[in-house]
Amino acid sequence: MSQIVEVKVPDIGDFDAVPVIELFVKAGDSIKVDDAICTLESDKATMDVPSSAAGVVKEVLVKLGDKVSEGAVLIKVEAAGEAAAAPAQASAPAPAAAPAAASAPTAAAHAGSADVEYDMVVLGAGPGGYSAAFRAADLGLKTAIIERYATLGGVCLNVGCIPSKALLHVAAVIEEAEHVETAGIKFAKPTVDVDALRKHKDGVIGKLTGGLAGMAKARKVDVIRGYGSFLDPHHIEVEETTGSAQDKTGAKKVVKFKQCIIAAGSAAVHLPFIPRDPRIVDSTGALELRQVPGKMLVIGGGIIGLEMATVYSTLGARIDVVEMMDGLMQGPDRDAVKVWEKQNAQRFDKIMLKTKTVAVEAKDDGLYVKFEGEGAPAEPVKYDMILQSAGRAPNGNKIGADKAGVIVGERGFIPVDAQMRTNVPHIFAIGDVVGQPMLAHKAVHEAHVAAEVAAGQKAAFDATVIPGVAYTHPEVAWVGYTEAQAKAEGKKVEVAKFPWAASGRAIANGADYGFTKLIFDAETHRVIGGTIVGPSAGDMIGEVCLAIEMGADAVDIGKTIHPHPTLGETVGMAAEVAHGSCTDLPPMRKK
Ligand code: FAD
Repeated sequence: MSQIVEVKVPDIGDFDAVPVIELFVKAGDSIKVDDAICTLESDKATMDVPSSAAGVVKEVLVKLGDKVSEGAVLIKVEAAGEAAAAPAQASAPAPAAAPAAASAPTAAAHAGSADVEYDMVVLGAGPGGYSAAFRAADLGLKTAIIERYATLGGVCLNVGCIPSKALLHVAAVIEEAEHVETAGIKFAKPTVDVDALRKHKDGVIGKLTGGLAGMAKARKVDVIRGYGSFLDPHHIEVEETTGSAQDKTGAKKVVKFKQCIIAAGSAAVHLPFIPRDPRIVDSTGALELRQVPGKMLVIGGGIIGLEMATVYSTLGARIDVVEMMDGLMQGPDRDAVKVWEKQNAQRFDKIMLKTKTVAVEAKDDGLYVKFEGEGAPAEPVKYDMILQSAGRAPNGNKIGADKAGVIVGERGFIPVDAQMRTNVPHIFAIGDVVGQPMLAHKAVHEAHVAAEVAAGQKAAFDATVIPGVAYTHPEVAWVGYTEAQAKAEGKKVEVAKFPWAASGRAIANGADYGFTKLIFDAETHRVIGGTIVGPSAGDMIGEVCLAIEMGADAVDIGKTIHPHPTLGETVGMAAEVAHGSCTDLPPMRKK
């Protein structure tokens, strides 16, 4: 049974007649609950309006520039009556969607000339983009990268993976120094020079982005600075940008390409009702480390939010976390998250689960936040800083893809096949812009596939698993099947867990709370998943990834000699638990 549901503008605070500046859906699109319908921009805030219904869009009742207020109908949806799809897990590869040529937009035709011409043009210089460009150049293609920012490296190197880890490392050292008190070593309480710390983080970024610029030069990959937008299936117009942001100079260039790889990445989602205020930041703003607030709210209990909470709380901020779901850190099994929660209990004043932030009022003396839901306090709570980490949205709708005839799907994701081709065969897409999980290591692997296919090689993206890691303290790393996923699918598995309380190295390191868990297919006895919680879990999960890709079973892993004493040997020991040959634990009951 289907029914037509109207999706209306929700409560957007005190705003009225707010212009629609972006539209993400059109009639015929399939949407899920919480998919963005449009962006509204008032003089104080930019807000994405999420869909409250799932199904097929029957009618779009607004157009760009229309002014809307609360209650205005945005779209009509033929609701399928099914629950919205669960969010993609970081450990499961996104299935490559077969681009449907039938629904492709009609490509434009650029009548003018081109300023430069290349075999391969890569749009975006994140880990996906620069890896694709370098691989393409190594395979003999005359290549250019178009990037709007001054440095290569994209989100990951400039405002993501690397700066966050530079700060997390410092936080870990501070915490480690506190922990050795139990071993009789006492350091004075650290003083934090935020300016020097920021400089250190920027130095780390500079080293890496500078290295990339050198590698581009060594490969003769041209870097064209500016904002790229397709003119047609063989031309991109680049509006030159300058400075550390993306200020347009007014100069334009037309770049012609034989083949193109779209690597335009993603951007942080901004919640509709949150005003613009310098004390309210996304992950990029948080990584700027302008100040350490007294009290901070983290909206969104995912990995990025919790990594930032780890940094700021270690530097002295008191933290509350608000999360709509019933648990923090969706993805890994709950037993691993519980270990993390126990180790981090002192870090947070309040963790509000099944709770929503519904309003933020910026006053001179603080940010007053109203909540709704199970954990909501009765009165608004005052904060000095708010981090919005409620997810990221792909940039597929911002590059004029329709002029190239490239299909852009739900919320800006570009569908690709296993060779990373879009529906336009000489245009590829990779990284965050093609789907979940939005992770740098996925982007790099897809990049190599796209470049190799473009250079005429036989390649396909065929990863069995993609690992996910929360680089919190302790780290939580997982790959492939979790126990919860196996249970939900009714898949028969054998679960083997090695508690770090039985690991000499973990005890020596004060990390005996951790564990390593392996999941085996009950029929084939091959390893199909793993979860590790404890220091360096992210470094160790790679062995489980390799074991899964190689089709290893418990004997293969257990009989591989791991160095002793290491945390890494807990992977071998978990395999021995599965095999029944572990001598580092009390005797197991005979099966
Ligand atoms: P991006 O890195 O987003 O790069 C896209 C590039 O394209 C950008 O430089 C952008 O400026 C450019 N661009 C876009 N449109 C245009 C245009 N029209 N013209 C010119 N240039 C354009 N992942 C991990 O694997 N591990 C981590 O530890 C990790 N930590 C993270 C921490 C934070 C705080 C954040 C925000 C993300 C983190 N990620 C992490 C995710 C990771 O950063 C992304 O998955 C990765 O950067 C995606 O790479 P990409 O090449 O697809 O796109």
